[in-house]
Amino acid sequence: MQRREEFLEWLRGIEKKWQGVWREKRVFEAHPSGDRPKYFITVPYPYSNGPLHIGHGRTYTIGDIIARYKRLRGFNVLFPMAFHITGTPIIAYSEMISRGDERTIGLYRDYISLYIEDKDEVEKILESFKDPLNLAVFFAERIQRDFEELGYSIDWRRRFHTGEPIYNRFVTWQYFKLADKGLITRGDHIVTYCLLHRQPEGEDDIQDADVNPVEIVEYTAVKFTLPSRGWILLAATLRPETLFGVTNMWVHPEGDYVVFDWRGEKLVVSEKAFLKFKHQYPEEEVSFVTRIKGRDLIGENAVSPFGDNVVVLPAWFVDVENATGVVYSEPSDAPYDYVALIDLKSNPDLINKYSLKPDLVQSIEPRKIIDVPGISGHHAEIAVKSAGVKSQLDPRIEDITKEVYREQFYNGVMIVDYAGIKGLPVKEAREKVKELLYSMGKAIPFYELNRRAYCRGGGEIIVAKIAGQWFINYNVKWLKEKSRKMIEEDVVKIVPSKYKKLFLDTIDWLDKRPCARKRGIGTSLPWDQDWIIESLSDSTIYMAFYTIAHII
Ligand SMILES: [Zn+2]
Repeated sequence: MQRREEFLEWLRGIEKKWQGVWREKRVFEAHPSGDRPKYFITVPYPYSNGPLHIGHGRTYTIGDIIARYKRLRGFNVLFPMAFHITGTPIIAYSEMISRGDERTIGLYRDYISLYIEDKDEVEKILESFKDPLNLAVFFAERIQRDFEELGYSIDWRRRFHTGEPIYNRFVTWQYFKLADKGLITRGDHIVTYCLLHRQPEGEDDIQDADVNPVEIVEYTAVKFTLPSRGWILLAATLRPETLFGVTNMWVHPEGDYVVFDWRGEKLVVSEKAFLKFKHQYPEEEVSFVTRIKGRDLIGENAVSPFGDNVVVLPAWFVDVENATGVVYSEPSDAPYDYVALIDLKSNPDLINKYSLKPDLVQSIEPRKIIDVPGISGHHAEIAVKSAGVKSQLDPRIEDITKEVYREQFYNGVMIVDYAGIKGLPVKEAREKVKELLYSMGKAIPFYELNRRAYCRGGGEIIVAKIAGQWFINYNVKWLKEKSRKMIEEDVVKIVPSKYKKLFLDTIDWLDKRPCARKRGIGTSLPWDQDWIIESLSDSTIYMAFYTIAHII
């Protein structure tokens, strides 16, 4: 044991000695020289929102090995380094520290303590992190020291961070170039949006989004009229093709609902959905009419876009926090609908409590509209019976639903005869019915997340439509052709070459990408100062910076 310690001490002595010599003789500072070929290498610079982790060690050691190898082969090597501080994560952490978020404060206290022993000093530095720039600069300086101790052969004279004016000028130059080439466009954009901070927030800002992705889902919100009230129930579905099998509507009897005016129609959705609606359609078109309970709607007759008369019934599986909080029932194919119908039919007290007509409720039967090979009878009924489900609140229905829906998506065929639907596979019918309903004005899109989500600062995330979002348009023929050629002809060489296909595939599907947001550290859009250029767009061609820094 002792020998091992002595051996390590001896090694560290050698390390210290030679690192001292490198520093003194400035051996990694590259100067123009006519007698050696040039070699320039960069590695994407670290995001300085915390200390390095072992993954950084791997990434930068690879770069350093290449740089050293090339020097030994007689090249004049330039290996510069910088620090990435633009974007929202650093601001988000800084804000959480300002707000007194215990978890973040604890985390950063630990981070600082890796470098500083004096407890008062640690608290002083932590306090200074309420300014995001202090946070970024503190870790940038530590990372540089760690890189030096690792012995990386970096020319540190060229260090900078991406919030500096010289880098802003580079990003501005890049955006004027993109605009000149007609690659910047503007339009509506569907985004994840934080209700607390009242701004779009992406994967970086959302809790656990890296391990449990948050996706935007488009529901078809179908209009069912309530003739006796002159209102319209907005029932959200992911399966508009099932509308042909509708038997009734569901609302949560204790749920809060809102009636509101929108473009001359009085729509009814849950109170939560009303809030979301105002973020997805221009708020000035929306005006509140009245607030009601779900039970106020029960027993009403509703009329579907295809003229079916259906009754509004109570169901407890309906989640007023999700989508519109109004559901149409298709018990042949939807397990929740089937179980809720059986629950109600077998509960005379409930039928009585909501003054429903017993004969009417008992007469409701599933209507088969989709044929699935190997399934004779109603798919939902077969699936819940074989699992032994007894109530609509049984959590297993979630998985049973996924299974039934998957099977129908891949193997289901429509047997209902309407508007050329008959014989179509379910996945085609779904798109066709959706487009039909939209074009008839009988449905509108309603966006929802695939799961509940909160930002790192505790705000609830919903889906919102942002008007006037700036995009880079990658879906341009000449750009795609040029990019493909660069990769196919090895002008840009991908190592290992098996990833070449991945790059080519990406070029194929790449479309418009939002390139700016309303907050963050970084460079303003040169022609619209309200917007900050997004941190991926400002660092993608960072290596070009060194080649033009002297002329911008
Ligand atoms: Zn937030």
